[in-house]
Amino acid sequence: MVQLKSVNKHYGSLHVLKDINLEVGKGEVIILLGPSGSGKSTLCRTINRLETIDSGSISIDGKILPEEGKELANLRAEVGMVFQSFNLFAHKSILDNVTLGPRKVRGLSKTEAEEEAMALLRKVGVDSQAQKMPAQLSGGQQQRVAIARALAMRPKVMLFDEPTSALDPEMVNEVLDTMVNLAREGMTMIVVTHEMGFARRAADRIVFLANGEIVEQATPDEFFSNPKSDRAKDFLGKIL
Ligand code: ADP
Ligand code: MG
Repeated sequence: MVQLKSVNKHYGSLHVLKDINLEVGKGEVIILLGPSGSGKSTLCRTINRLETIDSGSISIDGKILPEEGKELANLRAEVGMVFQSFNLFAHKSILDNVTLGPRKVRGLSKTEAEEEAMALLRKVGVDSQAQKMPAQLSGGQQQRVAIARALAMRPKVMLFDEPTSALDPEMVNEVLDTMVNLAREGMTMIVVTHEMGFARRAADRIVFLANGEIVEQATPDEFFSNPKSDRAKDFLGKIL
């Protein structure tokens, strides 16, 4: 579903992604781990082309992401992204937040878009909040709306960049549970997280990044019980 081939990216003289090769199968859940500054966010942002790359290629479901144009917009719509900050439109209702994209990009009528949106809001457990404004919801509820909004575009893959890092602790699980459900339904997911319990539970594969390089890839059991590289051992030593 997602394929990166020899992807390189620099920020000025900083070589932030070094020859990244990564394949994510349909329905696979990849957890990206690595120290702060290792390039996890940059990697996510290149996959939906919020960032350009210097060399290599990225394809989604077999189609190479082009530099620009309509084809790029179409492919981008297939990649949903949820960030640390919820990024809801503050002056739109919850329902409007979810219907806006599908109406504009997928060409749905208001009624169609609202029916789909309500079903998605129900799925993430916030349908009773549909008429409210984002600021009236808790952080956990807002993040679940952000997930529903991304799903409303019918993405083929979902990227999550530290989706629970800005939440109060008691709200972390409601968001993680939503993500686990999504994974069980077969969504292809790439997740950056510091929630190691979730990583163990939900990951098909851990991809460990350090200094812009993929240093190690393993199942969660292998990675957590028997990390191979010194950098992974060091990382786990600090967080576990
Ligand atoms: P992570 O998400 O793993 O913490 P990032 O992908 O955010 O890492 O950052 C990787 C490196 O790239 C860091 O050294 C960071 O300072 C640098 N970086 C990130 N974004 C930019 C940018 N827009 N301009 C310059 N340097 C950046
Ligand atoms: Mg980051």
